[in-house]
Amino acid sequence: MSEQLAIDRVEQLLADHPPASTDAKEFLGAQFDAGLAWVHFPEGRGGLGIEPSAQRAVNERLREAKAPEAYWHNPIGHGMGAPTIVTHGSDEQQERYLRPLFTGEEVWCQLFSEPGAGSDVAGLSGRAVRDGDEWIVNGQKVWTTLAHLARWGMLLVRTDPEQPKHRGMTYFVVDMQAPGVEVRPLRQITGEAEFNEVYFTDVRIPDSERLGDLGQGWAVATTTLMNERVAIGGAVSPRGSGPIGEAVRLWEAKADKDPVTRDRLMQLWIDAEVNRLTNLRAQQNRSVGTPGPEGSVGKLAFAEANKEIYAFCLDLLGAEGTLYSSYEMTRPDKAMFTDSTQKSFLRARANSIEGGTSEIMRNILGERVLGLPGDVRVDKDLPWSQVPRN
Ligand SMILES: Cc1cc2nc3c(=O)[nH]c(=O)nc-3n(C[C@H](O)[C@H](O)[C@H](O)COP(=O)(O)OP(=O)(O)OC[C@H]3O[C@@H](n4cnc5c(N)ncnc54)[C@H](O)[C@@H]3O)c2cc1C
Repeated sequence: MSEQLAIDRVEQLLADHPPASTDAKEFLGAQFDAGLAWVHFPEGRGGLGIEPSAQRAVNERLREAKAPEAYWHNPIGHGMGAPTIVTHGSDEQQERYLRPLFTGEEVWCQLFSEPGAGSDVAGLSGRAVRDGDEWIVNGQKVWTTLAHLARWGMLLVRTDPEQPKHRGMTYFVVDMQAPGVEVRPLRQITGEAEFNEVYFTDVRIPDSERLGDLGQGWAVATTTLMNERVAIGGAVSPRGSGPIGEAVRLWEAKADKDPVTRDRLMQLWIDAEVNRLTNLRAQQNRSVGTPGPEGSVGKLAFAEANKEIYAFCLDLLGAEGTLYSSYEMTRPDKAMFTDSTQKSFLRARANSIEGGTSEIMRNILGERVLGLPGDVRVDKDLPWSQVPRN
């Protein structure tokens, strides 16, 4: 019944705003207003308050009608910012941020990782010190995807160094155009600088831009991180499409087909299909809120399969696989976007690092799903200020 409601709304949206003759931002704004941005969000916040699985039918119909997709221009905002804001944001924050985030008018970035805190992000050193109704932030973030385009950043910083590391952090929305924010490009193996270093020097953030309670930054960050895993590895594309579709296309174009290579392709195809079905099941079971460890299964399987598939594609290409258009540094307006097999191969190397490494995904699955003994964590209960660091 509720899926039918969403489909009826889609048909109305398409009739009122034909994608071929409507400006992309206007269309996306109308999609948000119709509650079809994230159907499981509350009404008035881009949703209809119905089960998240109905989004799949909405997206399929919109894709079929060639409606604009904002995701690729604001992947961090869509995949991670929006669920964090709707879960932890005040009414004012939800009202202010969600719509322009969805339309892509305001790009978001995630400011968690630091030079000394990646996998162990809870060990971070970036500081915010209270000054009346404001906070003053100093520190350095790194690997910040699309920071060069971002209007807003999701910032995790330490507000109480005397608490153990998970308890002394607070989460803020930071204005990336505020005085004292400096964004410098970091170049990747593809030649592009999708990500950046971000320096904060005495940046002022009003306390009203805090997301969640003081000292509760880890709980808010967990919502972001769990959604990040689903955003990276949880997509359910049509059977045989995406990377494995590219491998099949290259195989079909190959003149000399040998059984050993065919066998390798079949194995990869099975892996891709098992991942797709696992993600489909997780998507259908998912309820509203923070996704569980199934996001880590999808993220781990996606990352490892993607690397394998593109390595196979490069083998099929032979010498052509070494041809690459240009290594000149560019600062792209999309993340994870590739337009050649060679670039996909290079970009796929990052899949098992971004959003948490494959080793960390295995740790999460070992501890939270299989109930194995936990990783060694000697600093867990010590005040952060007493933890030895470089
Ligand atoms: C393309 C890309 C985009 C990114 N975008 C963002 C972004 O927008 N915002 C952001 O905040 N961050 C971003 N990151 C950073 C990313 O989250 C970190 O790189 C990642 O969490 C790993 O941290 P690290 O690089 O510091 O490696 P480290 O944590 O130093 O890890 C080094 C190695 O040690 C292993 N290791 C570490 N701890 C353990 C353990 N306990 N058990 C077993 N093995 C372990 C790791 O798996 C890894 O192989 C991005 C990274 C990439 C590659």
